[in-house]
Amino acid sequence: MAREVTAAGGCLCGAVRFKVSGVPIRMAQCHCRDCQRASGTGHMSNAIFDVADVEIVGATASYASPSDSGNTLTRHFCPTCGSRLFLYSEARPDMIVMAAGAFDDSSWFEPEVVLYTKSRPPWDITTDRVPGFEGMPPRRPK
Ligand SMILES: [Zn+2]
Ligand SMILES: [Zn+2]
Repeated sequence: MAREVTAAGGCLCGAVRFKVSGVPIRMAQCHCRDCQRASGTGHMSNAIFDVADVEIVGATASYASPSDSGNTLTRHFCPTCGSRLFLYSEARPDMIVMAAGAFDDSSWFEPEVVLYTKSRPPWDITTDRVPGFEGMPPRRPK
């Protein structure tokens, strides 16, 4: 069970800042191709929180695209420096998926699952100490 997290973060240029206070609903490494393209690297490290636990200051730009399951994912980034910050899924409007690397201190982040191992590039090593799934898990555990 994840512990309560109180942490702040923001983009590279500092125009967008955020604060989080709550227990992460899930923490995951995602190797899907969309996360690879959006991040420019082999995976995104994502911490999912209740939207009520997150406060964002500063304007973001966003890009919406369909996920594998057909839900629209809207990825938000800083319009000035391009840092990837968070995303929303149309299917779960009560949740926000925060990019772990955008936090000032992300030492609390502990991935519980690795997603989309089928598209993990051989040069991108993520942990095998937690369950891995070829795509999304069959059902999202609570
Ligand atoms: Zn910025
Ligand atoms: Zn992904």
